[in-house]
Amino acid sequence: MLDFKLTQPQQEEQPPTDAEQAEPVYDVLIIGGAPAGLTAAIYAGRAARKALLLIGPFPGGQVATTNHVENFPGFPEGINGTELAQRMQQQAERFGAQIVMDSATAVDLSASPFTVRTHSETYRGRTAIIATGAVPRRLGVPGEKKFFGRGVSTCATCDAFFYKNKRVVVVGGGDSAIDEGLFLTKFAREVVVVHRRDQLRATRIYQERAFANPKMRFVWDSVVEEVLGEKTVTGVRVRNVKTGETSIVEADGLFMYVGTIPGTKLFTSQIELDERGYVVTDRHQRTSVPGVFAAGDVQSPDFRQIVVAAGSGAVAAIEADRYLAEQSHSA
Ligand code: NAP
Repeated sequence: MLDFKLTQPQQEEQPPTDAEQAEPVYDVLIIGGAPAGLTAAIYAGRAARKALLLIGPFPGGQVATTNHVENFPGFPEGINGTELAQRMQQQAERFGAQIVMDSATAVDLSASPFTVRTHSETYRGRTAIIATGAVPRRLGVPGEKKFFGRGVSTCATCDAFFYKNKRVVVVGGGDSAIDEGLFLTKFAREVVVVHRRDQLRATRIYQERAFANPKMRFVWDSVVEEVLGEKTVTGVRVRNVKTGETSIVEADGLFMYVGTIPGTKLFTSQIELDERGYVVTDRHQRTSVPGVFAAGDVQSPDFRQIVVAAGSGAVAAIEADRYLAEQSHSA
């Protein structure tokens, strides 16, 4: 359980500067423009709270790189990820949220109002919702950096088109690897899944689709040790973890789906993070700092579902609204 008492924000000791006084203090500052942040903005707006949403340069987060979302309620035929994010953004705007395409570069959660700096502005909020998501983990093998963005990728939706009739390797055995691998089969002539165990982690529906797909091949019990090539990717060297044997899988590209890293760099030492770096929240999306909430993948790697992120964004905004109401009653 979080101990809220230990980390009560201090009252600001210094009076705000003239420049700061001229800037509005938002009720809710939301950092992150993926489904958690977008939903929080919808809810904050509908609660008539003055909300600012920083969505960064690429709105939608990882959803925007998802070709086809099949499991978000209300879309029986599925929906393109970018379109879903755009619709959420329109809905947030409809309820009055101010949306800024900029990224937070520094935050100060030590005193209320909390401040969030971007490249060009400083914003202040009586509450804050952290919804900065998580980014794909890299393998960290030789050749990966050299070819990243031109042969090595973490986004099939973005890059699959470049692999028409080519062979690609996908690393990982989770839902992301199999889902994106299946998408790649629409373009590539062969998709070779390299997985470090002999069983997939992916859910059954994805497993069944993958095993039934004639373009999918599996290299079990193996890890990628190096990305090979001079000017372009020509293959990967894999090592069988059971036999220690190495071999080369010829390929034109490598797609990595080996988990994610939370976007919590800005918050280290300001709020409680777990041992993996995710923001610790309670069931009400409250963090260790009163008035600061977190939602979506930044506070849990366990589900990574759009509907779960959206749900937690709604809870965070409802709780922010309650917190503000309590503060004004006790003032
Ligand atoms: P994940 O479930 O954590 O899977 C990561 C995969 O990468 C695992 O198979 C893991 O192997 C492997 N791996 C990790 N580190 C590795 C390394 N250093 N070298 C080689 N392989 C490595 O991640 P995810 O697939 O991104 O899924 C995360 C969550 O999002 C899950 O809850 C998933 O259900 C959800 N998700 C859902 C959908 C959907 O519903 N459409 C789509 C994508 C993701 P092990 O299996 O041996 O651990």
